[in-house]
Amino acid sequence: MAMALFEVGATLLGACIGSFLNVVIWRLQQEDPAKRSVGGRSHCPHCGALIRWFDNVPIVSWLLLRAKARCCHKPISSRYPLVEALTAGLFLLLALQQPYGNVLVQTPDGFAIATNAAVAFGLQAVFLSVLVALSFIDFDTRLLPDVLTIPGIWLGLVAGVWPGLAGELFAEPNTPRWASALVASVAGFLVGGGVTWAIRSVGTAIFRKEAMGFGDVKLMAMIGAVLGWQSALLTMFLGCLFGAVGGGLGVVLGRGNVIPFGPFLALGAVVCLFWRDAIVYVLFTAWPEWQSQNPAARWLVLGTSLVLLPLLFAVVRRARRAG
Ligand SMILES: [Zn+2]
Repeated sequence: MAMALFEVGATLLGACIGSFLNVVIWRLQQEDPAKRSVGGRSHCPHCGALIRWFDNVPIVSWLLLRAKARCCHKPISSRYPLVEALTAGLFLLLALQQPYGNVLVQTPDGFAIATNAAVAFGLQAVFLSVLVALSFIDFDTRLLPDVLTIPGIWLGLVAGVWPGLAGELFAEPNTPRWASALVASVAGFLVGGGVTWAIRSVGTAIFRKEAMGFGDVKLMAMIGAVLGWQSALLTMFLGCLFGAVGGGLGVVLGRGNVIPFGPFLALGAVVCLFWRDAIVYVLFTAWPEWQSQNPAARWLVLGTSLVLLPLLFAVVRRARRAG
């Protein structure tokens, strides 16, 4: 019962945070610095009328108003409930992740453990929220604003001290746990940012124009600082895979030239956060075993790579940006 409450609570919190992220995404794109502040009450983007609280309930209001503003009857983009539902879903996944649910329920006397879980939940929730905001801003403007990535890097380095969030680089008996966790986080920052910077340099040399923005370097440095260096590499791998598939879909749909790389990296980080162990098992245990029993598997890999690599190059080459 208490566990279900925790999950429902996390989902509702996610919907509200998603509503706030809509404001962040919209206001960070404004040219006018006066419109950039995130505080204050919500106004209709069409006529400027103040939006009343009961018209501002995540997802529900959009459905009740049938996607039309009450003030001026102009259409409200389906983007708003989409961001809210996406954030709610991510927070639910986070609540379902071990050990949060168990720890909060099973330790009536374990205040320290419950506090650990709550802080870890909070830090990862902030990380997911930043990824959602960055993805949509990048999709709209092909920019990844420093105002989100730089605090994200600091969050990762500070959160790295928290036991086990970024993993631990070494487990020496004489080293305090927070120190080895911090080293893992710093290593993640260096590997995530460094690998992306190297790919960016090589890509720029080959294509003679910016293949990836410096924003991608800072995004990957942030992801590495939060998730650790192993996850940074896995995120890069998944991001390229998703980018190639997404680029292929974009070419088919005739929109290949508007897809930036940031959302694919963010998706890779989310998949890594929730299913890293499963992916590591498939890549390094299940797949090699299957391959050793089926010699034809290498041709499958070669064939898939030959299809996906040109698509990835097409995406990266077109996703040129200023930031
Ligand atoms: Zn209006």
